[in-house]
Amino acid sequence: MNKAPVGVLGGTFDPVHNGHLRLAMEMAIALGMDHVRLVPCARPPHRNAPTASPGQRAKWIRVAVSIEPRLRLDDRELLRSGPSYTVDTLASMRTEMPDTPLCLIMGRDVFAHLPKWHQWERLFDSAHIVLIDRPDIQTELHPEAEKTLASRAVDDVRHLHDELSGHIYSYAPPPLAISASRIRDLLGAGESPRYLLPTAVLDDIMDAGVYMPSKPQPATAANQ
Ligand code: ATP
Repeated sequence: MNKAPVGVLGGTFDPVHNGHLRLAMEMAIALGMDHVRLVPCARPPHRNAPTASPGQRAKWIRVAVSIEPRLRLDDRELLRSGPSYTVDTLASMRTEMPDTPLCLIMGRDVFAHLPKWHQWERLFDSAHIVLIDRPDIQTELHPEAEKTLASRAVDDVRHLHDELSGHIYSYAPPPLAISASRIRDLLGAGESPRYLLPTAVLDDIMDAGVYMPSKPQPATAANQ
């Protein structure tokens, strides 16, 4: 008999926010998961480098999940050298948890471009995919993603418990239109993103001055 599934939510988490955290909670509750791991990537292969350092992003996740046993930080991608390929992350989790179904949670916006990921078809050897509709982002699926969805979709959550990997299950949690880019934009404009992310995380961001507008340099003899 398999153990309860473990959810895997990868991302840049630049910074982690209540959209990520509530999404992970909704998944844990609705799909009967043992827990959901938030997995920050070190060097995202498909987008610009994050603004905050890997250490800061991991620390904020650790702070945010410390009060909830069903959420965990998994920092294995930060400890590995080279690009953060999800296929490698899932393969290493599969080795550690041979009889636990793994569910890779991703927004439909991310799934839309899945066929551009490194060895993307091998993802299904290690995990299921749980597909989440993002209320704030409209996306058209890559034709290969569309085909994969058609052939692997299941509509009964029991498949995620009974089998270790290979299915795609769509789930629409109550929408929260929060994004890390909005938080970065607000901070960059000198505005407050309070209530979009945990207070302890925001306090640490403010202390460290990450994402803030750059202060004008005091005039010196050298730059006058
Ligand atoms: P950015 O605004 O910088 O693109 P983001 O807020 O989308 O960042 P990511 O770290 O890129 O955050 O997201 C990690 C995962 O969480 C992705 O699969 C993404 O679709 C999902 N996600 C992020 N925010 C939400 C949200 N508000 N509701 C549902 N899913 C979300």
